[in-house]
Amino acid sequence: MNDCVFCKIRDGIIPSPKLYEDEEIFVIRDIEPKAKCHYLVIPKKHFKLLSEMEKQDEAMLGRTFAKIASLAPTLGLENGYRVIINQGDDGGQTVFHLHIHVLGGEKLPL
Ligand code: 5GP
Ligand code: ZN
Repeated sequence: MNDCVFCKIRDGIIPSPKLYEDEEIFVIRDIEPKAKCHYLVIPKKHFKLLSEMEKQDEAMLGRTFAKIASLAPTLGLENGYRVIINQGDDGGQTVFHLHIHVLGGEKLPL
């Protein structure tokens, strides 16, 4: 039994509107937004940490960052945005399925 919340959203077991989806990633709104716009960009493949990436995941992550850049204007992020990947306990990671936070829609404090 896979208890991962993002796997369950990927598979439609937990409903969460997908703002974008392709064969590698999907994008949802964070349930507790920390900015006016707060998206989660989630690889469909379940892995916990950057350190667990396999060779093909490196290319997938590169494509994911390019996709974030191309999606940004459609997500209300035309004035810029911040990308964050929390890693492990000290990094504040709470969901152990790699994901990229994308925040914006307003001037973010440093
Ligand atoms: P982390 O702290 O692991 O970097 O980020 C996990 C994020 O996932 C948090 O910002 C949290 O609000 C979000 N989150 C947790 N559970 C759900 C959920 O069921 N739906 C959505 N949309 N976001 C979630
Ligand atoms: Zn997962």
